Amino acid sequence: MIKNFVMLTFDLEEFDIAEEYGQKVSHSDQMTVTKTGTERLIALLDNHNIRATFFTTGNYAQLNPELIKAISLKHEIASHALYHSSFHKFKETDILESKNILENITGSKVTGFRMPRLKSFDHKVLSGWGFVYDSSINPTYLPGRYNLLHKSPLPYRENGLLELPCSTTPTLRFPLFWLAFKNLPIGLYAALCRRTLRKRKNLMLYFHPWEFAEIGDFKMPGYVKSPDGIELVDKLDKLIQNLKKQDAEFVTCQEFCETLEIAGESMKSV
Ligand SMILES: [Zn+2]
Repeated sequence: MIKNFVMLTFDLEEFDIAEEYGQKVSHSDQMTVTKTGTERLIALLDNHNIRATFFTTGNYAQLNPELIKAISLKHEIASHALYHSSFHKFKETDILESKNILENITGSKVTGFRMPRLKSFDHKVLSGWGFVYDSSINPTYLPGRYNLLHKSPLPYRENGLLELPCSTTPTLRFPLFWLAFKNLPIGLYAALCRRTLRKRKNLMLYFHPWEFAEIGDFKMPGYVKSPDGIELVDKLDKLIQNLKKQDAEFVTCQEFCETLEIAGESMKSV
């Protein structure tokens, strides 16, 4: 029987999103907001005894090495490039630099990558640098951001890599990303996840640790910052409980890739 694999993924980065809305965020706020949310998530994952993947920027890791090392003892650390802020101009070599930083801190191989803000970039560089998978594609249409309806919503192989797209619902391709989790009632969001899991046998969900800290005072639109903090931790708790009833097996992205390798060609039907 094919299992129902669920990948919970968190983009562990500087809390810089308020800057997109014109508010300067101090360096210490960028660090502590993310740390607060991360610690709550780790406690929640521990309660459920499940593992997750943290896509981490090299910059955040360098400034918080003990935290990253501690997370890596139980969860997967993957790369989220070097800097999140759009004030740093992205260079392809940032990807390799972040991988080296993360491997030095954790003492483990980093095999996965996700581009900040899921921006487009040349995926061909990744396999040469030892990456096994990428998860930078949200195969849906987001007005004003991107239209990736031509991309496969199922995991696929390209450029010597496994591409693990962020989950969208079957047929309509409604994105099951962090804004949907935050803004839909939990009953509806969980139902969409269950339907997708039944059909596709895997779910790739992504969130950010800073969402799970108190961010209500920052000047951002309500749909980006609310609910936040403990309320959102409780919502994620409910989602995990709900998916467990669906016989979900929570795995890291790396573990999921291994199951695809074992399945070989049958991966096309995943
Ligand atoms: Zn990010």
